[in-house]
Amino acid sequence: MRKKIVAGNWKMNGSRYEAHTLLEAIKQGADAFSAIDIIVFPSFVYLQQSEEILADSLVAWGAQNLYLGKTGAFTGEISGAMLVDYGCQYVLIGHSERRQLFHEDVNLVAAKFKTAQQFGIQPVLCIGETLEQREAGQTENIIEQQLASVIEAASIDAFRHAVIAYEPVWAIGTGLTATPEQAQAVHAFIRARLAKYNAEIAEGIRILYGGSVKADNAKALFAMPDIDGGLVGGASLEAKGFLAICQAAM
Ligand code: PEP
Repeated sequence: MRKKIVAGNWKMNGSRYEAHTLLEAIKQGADAFSAIDIIVFPSFVYLQQSEEILADSLVAWGAQNLYLGKTGAFTGEISGAMLVDYGCQYVLIGHSERRQLFHEDVNLVAAKFKTAQQFGIQPVLCIGETLEQREAGQTENIIEQQLASVIEAASIDAFRHAVIAYEPVWAIGTGLTATPEQAQAVHAFIRARLAKYNAEIAEGIRILYGGSVKADNAKALFAMPDIDGGLVGGASLEAKGFLAICQAAM
C-alpha cells in the first residue's frame, strides 16, 4: 500500500508575511492527516522560514529547483548542499515550466535528478506531454523518453528514492484537468514502463498527478489505483483549499 502524498508547488508566489501565514495554517491543519505525506515547495527565499515553522511538524518542505555540484561559479544558482542546509527532503526536478521557459533539456533534468540524490534529497521528477503532443498521439512516446533519459543516467535503482509527478502541460495552471480516467491511463503506463526494468520498484514508487488539482476534483483523481496523490500549484496557495485536498487523499 503506497502512502499518498499531497504536495504544494508555490512557484514564484507569496511574500514573507504570506509564507508565514500559509506555513502556520498548513502546519496546524496537517495534524489531521498523518496517514499521508504533505510537502510544500516554497520559493528558495522562504526555505529558512519553512524550516523554522515546520520543524517537528508532519509537513516536509523542499525546493523547486537545484543546480549541479556543491559550490562554484554559478551565479544565481542554489546547490543540493544548500538545500540540505535548510532541511529540504525533496526537490522538484524537470517541472514543465523549467523545461519550457528555462530550456532544461532531458540531459540537464537527468543530471539534476542524480545531483539531488547525491545530496540525499528525493527528487520529484515531473513529466508530461503538451497539448500538441497529446493530440498527435505522442503522449506515451514523450513520457517514455522523459523516463528513459533519467533511467539511463541514474539507473532504475535510483527510483527507489524518488517520486514521479505526471503533469500534462495542458492542464497546468489552465483550469483544465485530465479526467481521472485519462490520468489513470498515463499513470498505469508509467508504472508499466518502470516494471519492465524492476517490478518491485514500479509497484512501490509514488506517482502524483498534477494539473489544476482542486478540492472538488481531487477525490475522484486520488481514487484511481495508480494515482498516489497530487502535486498542486495554484490551489496550494490557500490553506483551506490545500487542506481540503489533503482530506481528499485520506
Ligand atoms: C504545478 O505547477 O505543478 C501545477 C500542477 O499547477 P496547477 O495546480 O496550478 O495547475
